[in-house]
Amino acid sequence: MSESLPTKGVPWTELRRELEEAKSTDCPWTRGMFGLWWPNPSPEMLRISNEAFEMFSHASLLYAPWLGSIRRIESDLQAMVQELLRAPEGAATTLTSGGTESNFLAVKTARDWARVNRPEATRPSIVAPRTAHPTMNKAASLLGLEVVRVPAGPDYRADVNAMAAAITSNTVMLVGSAPPYTHGRIDDIPALAALAAQNHLWLHVDACVGGFLAPWLRKLGRPVPDFDFTVPGVFSVSADLHKFAYCLLGISSITLRDSALLQYQRFEFSDWPYGTYRSQTFAGSRPAGIAAAAWVLMRRLGEEGYLEVARGILRTTELFVSGIRSIPGLSILNEPEMGILNVVSQELDMMAVADAMTARGWPVARFEEPPAIHLLMDRVDDETVIHDFLNELRGAVGEVRAGRVVRSGSALGYEAPKL
Ligand SMILES: *Cc1c(COP(=O)(O)O)cnc(C)c1O
Repeated sequence: MSESLPTKGVPWTELRRELEEAKSTDCPWTRGMFGLWWPNPSPEMLRISNEAFEMFSHASLLYAPWLGSIRRIESDLQAMVQELLRAPEGAATTLTSGGTESNFLAVKTARDWARVNRPEATRPSIVAPRTAHPTMNKAASLLGLEVVRVPAGPDYRADVNAMAAAITSNTVMLVGSAPPYTHGRIDDIPALAALAAQNHLWLHVDACVGGFLAPWLRKLGRPVPDFDFTVPGVFSVSADLHKFAYCLLGISSITLRDSALLQYQRFEFSDWPYGTYRSQTFAGSRPAGIAAAAWVLMRRLGEEGYLEVARGILRTTELFVSGIRSIPGLSILNEPEMGILNVVSQELDMMAVADAMTARGWPVARFEEPPAIHLLMDRVDDETVIHDFLNELRGAVGEVRAGRVVRSGSALGYEAPKL
C-alpha cells in the first residue's frame, strides 16, 4: 500500500526505521551479485563518495559560472576523462546523468553537424551493430533519426563489411561499442573509423562500459585494441563514471574530439522574457553532489587504486571462468575480455537455471540470443561471495538436471524485472 502525503510530518527516527525495515526485506544485493546491481564499490569507496555528496548535495552544476568550487570539480573531472580517453588538445567533455544522456547528446550533436556537413542526408540515419545499446535507438527516436542495425560477426564484434554495405546517402553516423553490454568484445574501432572517414560520417564510440576499465586493463598488459581518440575519425566517446569508475549513480560523460563541435551539441533559446537560455546537456539542473563524489573517489583511488580495481575484476573473472568450466553442462559463450561473460549450455535450459538461481536468492540477468545468464564481473571485498555464487549455480544446475525447476517464464523472487 502506498502512503499519501501525511497531514502531520513524521519524525525522522520513525522514517529512518521504516526505510531500514523496507530495506531488510530486499535481497542482500550490496554484497555483489554479478549482473543485477552492478558494480559495487567497497564500503570505503562508498563512504567517501557519500561524504563528498553531502557537501554539495544541494548544489547544481549550473552554478559553475558563479562558484569556483563547482567549476573546479567539473573541470578536473573533464580533464581526468580526457586523459583516460587520450583526447587531443581542444577536446570537450560534458558531464551527464548517465550513458543514456551521453548517447543522446552524441546523436543530437551528430544530427546537427550533419545538417551542415551532410545536407544531402534528408532522412538522417545511423548504422549500428545489432549489439549496440538500445539507448542509441532511444536517442534516435527522440531526435527523428532512423537506426539500421546490422548483425554482428561470428566473433560478436561489429561486422564492418556488413555495416559498409548498409550505408546509404542518408547515413550520417556510425556507432561502435567498447565494448557492447551484450558480449563485452570491443568492436574494431579503427576499421569503423576508416569506414566513417571514407563516407564523411560521424563515428561515435559507446564506451559506457569500457571507458573506465579498458585503459587500466591495457596498463596491466592485457591486449586492448585502440578505441579512443588515438583513432583518427572518432568524433565522440561516451564513458560512464557510474559503471567501472565506481562512482555514485548518476554520472557519465560525453567527449567530442574538438570543442568547435559543441556548437552542434548546444541548445540556445531566447524567445522568453528572461533572455538567452543556453544548455549543452539534456538535463537542466544537474546534481553537483554526484560530481563532487566522483571527483573525490577518482582522486582518492588514483592510477594505483584503479589498477587495483582492474586486478580485482580480472581475479573475479578468472574465478568465474574456472568455476563455470568445472560445472558439467555449462560453458562460456565468449572468452571474457572486458568484465562481461555469458554462461550457456548445449543441454540445459538456461532460463530454468536462471529461475533456479532466482529461487535460491541469487537473481541473475537473462540473455536471449542464445539463452544465457549474463554476468558482469565486479571487484569484491571478499571472494567468498564468488564461491557462494558458483556453489549456488552448481546447485541450480543440479536441480534443472533433476527436473525439479518449474519454469516461471518470468523473473522470480524479489520481483526483479528483467534488465
Ligand atoms: C549502461 C550502458 C548504457 C546506458 O547507460 P545508463 O547509464 O544506464 O543510462 C549505454 N551503453 C552501454 C554500452 C551501456 O552498457
